[in-house]
Amino acid sequence: MRIVMIGAGYVGLVSAACLADLGHEVVCVEVDETKVAALKKGRIPIYERGLSELVLANQSASRLSFTANLNDAARAAHAIFIAVGTPALGEVGSADMRYVYDAARDIASVIEDFTVIVVKSTVPIGACDDVERIIGERVPRNRFAVVSNPEFLREGAAIEDFNQPDRVVIGVEDERARLVMAEIYEPLSSVRASILYTSRRSSEMIKYAANVFLAMKVTFINEIADLCERVDADVLEVSRGVGLDSCIGPKFLTPGSGFGGSCFPKDTLVLTKFAREAEAPIRLVETLVEVNEARMAAMARKVIAACDGSVVGKRIAVLGLTYKPGTDDMREAPSLVIVPKLQAAGAQIVAYDPAGMRTARSLLPGVQLAEYAYDCVEGADAAVVITEWDEFRALDLKRVRAALNQPIMVDLRNIYSIETMRSLGFRYFCIGRGFRYDERSAHPQVQEFSSRGVSRTAREDRPDAELSMPYSGDWTRIGIT
Ligand code: NAD
Repeated sequence: MRIVMIGAGYVGLVSAACLADLGHEVVCVEVDETKVAALKKGRIPIYERGLSELVLANQSASRLSFTANLNDAARAAHAIFIAVGTPALGEVGSADMRYVYDAARDIASVIEDFTVIVVKSTVPIGACDDVERIIGERVPRNRFAVVSNPEFLREGAAIEDFNQPDRVVIGVEDERARLVMAEIYEPLSSVRASILYTSRRSSEMIKYAANVFLAMKVTFINEIADLCERVDADVLEVSRGVGLDSCIGPKFLTPGSGFGGSCFPKDTLVLTKFAREAEAPIRLVETLVEVNEARMAAMARKVIAACDGSVVGKRIAVLGLTYKPGTDDMREAPSLVIVPKLQAAGAQIVAYDPAGMRTARSLLPGVQLAEYAYDCVEGADAAVVITEWDEFRALDLKRVRAALNQPIMVDLRNIYSIETMRSLGFRYFCIGRGFRYDERSAHPQVQEFSSRGVSRTAREDRPDAELSMPYSGDWTRIGIT
């Protein structure tokens, strides 16, 4: 099939390369000419494992090409995919649809024969109707059909997810378009991908419902982690025990510093707003948004608490800046909240990330960027793991311990073993792992802080003191407001 992909971002570029690899002839149209120039030379503007090799292989096989000009590409296409961004509009929370609608207008001015327009971007329910209306203002209705085909790939595992999807959802209400979509995804039948045909609106809704459900799972385990800290349970054991239930499943049950990225934050906001407008508010999701925002700030407070209540003038080494490992994407990354809060509390930040440094430079002013993880921790008063890159799991921890000025490690992703860290002499703070690990006899200086900042040691030493009460939230006393 001849396919045009509009947008060469995280979704468009991966989808274009994967569709070409399935044997289709794909032209990727990107409005950013610098990206097009780079891609033509085989340089990939984003970091995604395996993507560079896939793009180069399909470019040299003449199945994949790049252009900034939709005209030539679109005329002969069987299907034109729209994979442009749909960011949330500031505080308002609606999806910014201007890129999708601009793409629809561009398409309307170029198609000649019957063409299927495939909306791959995540769009609010009913948006495909709008795309149909925009194109229909210039093109006779029998010459095109609009299909919803949301993307479920995860950055960091995007190629694998595209090629071995749990399901492909196709919202289609036109038989000719259904046949074209069936042919496009036919090669995936060899991996037994479930192809689910639905109405367009159901398809649009599936994408939001799925994403918001996963965001809820993450937030749920984060709150359970907080509770584990209070009641001396270990969230890793709890998460495993819960995730082994086949009704629940283990994925997205790893506690951390709050969800970020280009999808969960905006999709929860957009669904919340959309549901309110439809007079069917989803209160569960509204709460989710608030809890997640509060969590990132709480993580900054956790770091400050671990540094004995103040980071003023202290050098804090941050390991990992991207919102997850395996990508250079910094959109809505927890580091963008945690780092500025630590700076505001008086810390000097030095940071290292295996893939996100280029983007981080402009997003995190005042942060010193180190070239390697070991340079980052050298002379620091504490190290903080924000993103769980494998590189950090494999660090020589003895070397890290020796490089640090103070042996404080705040691990917001639980990548290290408590026993190992303590045996190496670290003061180790992690997420949701309980009191029974407190080895104060061996390390009398050790204090465990929950993410709400209650000192466990102090709590035990003074069982009748105010610290035995749930913490009421006056963080000014530990240097951050
Ligand atoms: P992105 O910002 O990385 O990429 C969008 C690209 O489209 C940019 O390169 C932009 O320059 C280009 N573009 C915008 N308007 C254009 C036009 N008229 N013609 C040609 N190019 C144009 O966005 P993304 O992360 O790839 O997300 C795209 C959509 O997919 C969003 O709706 C997102 O919610 C959804 N999605 C994203 C992911 C993810 O992990 N990133 C996963 C699933 C779904």
